[in-house]
Amino acid sequence: MPNKIITRYMIRNDCFAANRKITPKGIMIHSTAAPGVMARDWFSRWNKSYKAGEINRQVCVHAFLDDKEVWQYLPWDHRGWHAGGSANNTHIGLELCEPGGFSYSGGFQMVGYDKKRNQVYFNNVWQNAVDLCVFLCRKYGLTEKDILCHSEGSSMGIASNHADVMHWFVKHGKNMDHFRVDVRKKLRISTLSSIKPLYRVRKSWNEAKSQKGAFRKLTFAIQCADENPGYSVFDESGIKIYIGSHDPTYEIYTVVKGDSLWKIAKKKLGDSKRHREIKVLNGLTSDVIHIGQKLKLPK
Ligand SMILES: [Zn+2]
Repeated sequence: MPNKIITRYMIRNDCFAANRKITPKGIMIHSTAAPGVMARDWFSRWNKSYKAGEINRQVCVHAFLDDKEVWQYLPWDHRGWHAGGSANNTHIGLELCEPGGFSYSGGFQMVGYDKKRNQVYFNNVWQNAVDLCVFLCRKYGLTEKDILCHSEGSSMGIASNHADVMHWFVKHGKNMDHFRVDVRKKLRISTLSSIKPLYRVRKSWNEAKSQKGAFRKLTFAIQCADENPGYSVFDESGIKIYIGSHDPTYEIYTVVKGDSLWKIAKKKLGDSKRHREIKVLNGLTSDVIHIGQKLKLPK
């Protein structure tokens, strides 16, 4: 389980607005080549529209990770713009943030990178990435073999020609095989410890009365926790194995008689044009809504 996933969708980004869905078949790891810019900093940098001339690149990834946090910027099954190739149709894109205190020359040459000073940061961002990959592998039935980095994707012909993350990992004596081994170890532990498990969805383990359900299938339990803000998934021994995405970026609205997406957008968001955001956020394929339906509204 990654430390903490903070979900804040980049709804201004054209990639989010394009709203194409994928069935994740793998995970592609990138690194930012932007020294010292941490996961949370990317929201203001990339939550912009290329079409409106606010940003000069058409790019968006599913999440950025640093040594402490995971910031999820796209739904995991949203088609991202990270690979510059066909991997966008199949792969979840993750960007690892690089530590500060060095610069780049000639594309991917790290100048003045202090391995010793950055070792702790590197270990932590590595662990954070392993944990997130284990979580995503469980969620989508993937294994460590489905994980690759941008440069590996490039040699396979499914991504543009970039050097990340190999150019950085090698500074710490690591490569993607080491990374996959670490994911495999954790995946194996989680499989062994979950023989005939029952996954319970509660506010906290001690609040048995808050239980929303108990599931044999972890994916169902995760779904249930996601649908109920404030809820998490617990295994048999009461260990919290999934923290629901207590999404701070939306509130729940219940549709009343006479509502339309336009009216709700006007009433709650102050602009009827924002009906599109509501549609995207809720994965609606038509404009039809029903009385009593619960909709997520951006905050
Ligand atoms: Zn990349």
